[in-house]
Amino acid sequence: MRYDAIVIGIGGMGSAAAWHLASRGRRVLGLEQFTIPHELGSSHGLTRIIRLAYSEHPSYVPLLRRAYELWRAMEQRAGEPLLVITGGVDVGPEASGTIEGSLRSCLEHGLPHELLDAAEIERRFPGFRPPRDLVAVYQPEGGIVLPERSMVVHAAAARELGAEIHEGERVTEWRPEGGGVRVRTEAGEYAADRLVITAGPWASRCVPELARLAIPERQVLIWTQPLRPERFAVGAFPIFNLEAEEGRFYGFPVYGVPGLKLGKYHHLGQQTDPDRVDREFHPEDEAVLRAGIRRYLPDADGETLLMKTCLFTNSPDEHFILDLYPEWPQVSMAAGFSGHGFKFAPVIGEVMADLAMEGGCARFDLGLFGLHRFV
Ligand SMILES: Cc1cc2nc3c(=O)[nH]c(=O)nc-3n(C[C@H](O)[C@H](O)[C@H](O)COP(=O)(O)OP(=O)(O)OC[C@H]3O[C@@H](n4cnc5c(N)ncnc54)[C@H](O)[C@@H]3O)c2cc1C
Repeated sequence: MRYDAIVIGIGGMGSAAAWHLASRGRRVLGLEQFTIPHELGSSHGLTRIIRLAYSEHPSYVPLLRRAYELWRAMEQRAGEPLLVITGGVDVGPEASGTIEGSLRSCLEHGLPHELLDAAEIERRFPGFRPPRDLVAVYQPEGGIVLPERSMVVHAAAARELGAEIHEGERVTEWRPEGGGVRVRTEAGEYAADRLVITAGPWASRCVPELARLAIPERQVLIWTQPLRPERFAVGAFPIFNLEAEEGRFYGFPVYGVPGLKLGKYHHLGQQTDPDRVDREFHPEDEAVLRAGIRRYLPDADGETLLMKTCLFTNSPDEHFILDLYPEWPQVSMAAGFSGHGFKFAPVIGEVMADLAMEGGCARFDLGLFGLHRFV
């Protein structure tokens, strides 16, 4: 059988792309090398931050508004929570990229927010102990999305509409054929009119041109037992980004499993091969995360409950890559999510369905995300 579209990689973005394609009545084949979900890529670890006042760039806000709508729609369809609103704070020095960027998005898009000084941060959220020179942008829409459940429900919804999704089947090669594509896997060969590549940390294996544009980086997360659990419960503690002297920490209230979860952007700065990631934990992994907890969240400085490794896939400017393959417009790619992509998964799925089937995306300005910016 010939498919309308093949999706390589049924992770965060690919599961949503398969769902959007199937919901438009397309014959879809999704190919995933592992299981749905799995713990070897970028989309595990139980929780991801979602926020609307986007410090990275105001261009993301329209995508985010749509992402919130699609998260809610998929929750309704699946009959289970995927998005939990907790409130969020971006914390940092007033002149930092985090604070200035967050305020810029709020002002350009008229987003509800409050600017808090350090004393007010601590009064509202006693789990924080911010140095006096830090301020926060509080945004009521901040919250948590659930990555593993998201992939499961998107893949299940796509399958219900007739999509074929093969797990444990790695794509070894693809090539353009006429106006379409032929895809070879370890198990067989398939033909389709369109190819969508959402291979996460393996992106450059599928598109060699991405070798210097989508670089995997090892991350480590920690969950600690709070010494004062009531200060870190949903309702008492928000999701946060904290730009500090040590770097940028991010974290979550206790949700789903015991423990406050914290990570640090770019952790130890270790680029890696996605098939040879060091998944052991070393004293220096814990030390860099503990330093943030001890200094800024001392009441969470209890025993380590859990640690996990995960992969960022960084683009040079840390903005996403959403585009058609330059020579073959029947091939589209979503890559380089650079540690902040998951919250967008349902809207990236929609964008990829547009790129694949319409050859472009009229509903959003994708100017920030084109491959041309690297030429
Ligand atoms: C520690 C950590 C914390 C993060 N925190 C946040 C956050 O708070 N908020 C946020 O929005 N984002 C966050 N991110 C980023 C976000 O999780 C990623 O941007 C997102 O998960 C990327 O999804 P993806 O679909 O590109 O990759 P993945 O979900 O890894 O999917 C790629 C899939 O492709 C499959 N694949 C690859 N090659 C092949 C092949 N040849 N054949 C078949 N299948 C293949 C892989 O097995 C994989 O399942 C975080 C990331 C990490 C690592």
